[in-house]
Amino acid sequence: MIAGRARFRYIKKLQRAAGYRLPDAAFHPANLEAITGSMNIDGLDPGTRDQVMRFFKDFLDCKCRDSPLCGCPERKFVVCLLELRELGLNHKEISRHLIDEYGIELFPADILSFLEDSVHLLEAVRSVADLAGEEELVKKTDRHIREISR
Ligand SMILES: [Zn+2]
Repeated sequence: MIAGRARFRYIKKLQRAAGYRLPDAAFHPANLEAITGSMNIDGLDPGTRDQVMRFFKDFLDCKCRDSPLCGCPERKFVVCLLELRELGLNHKEISRHLIDEYGIELFPADILSFLEDSVHLLEAVRSVADLAGEEELVKKTDRHIREISR
């Protein structure tokens, strides 16, 4: 899954704020728990703190009982990538945006193949919806396919 490829560029700073070793995979459970729990976020420099706060607000802020290990963070990240693409950013611009906003590194090539896979998945959904006579869903998938692959 694409969220599994996202890495924190400034993991050393986050480790210092947490007080223990953390993996650099951004959505690793250890990182999600550190950010929602014990990490001393105020001890970070302002730039990194803003990125961590934004990461929390955009991906970790949910009301599930087993949050942040409920799957929402990874799902929200997928939606975020698709929304950025539909706003008109290409894979390189999305990669740059993730670094600026969240301090997250994700290779443009990984983003590109994720977007291609998403289009294939949407095309499969579209065919099933078409066979089932679900016209609204056909229209919806058509719109997303167009916006992602333009
Ligand atoms: Zn959740």
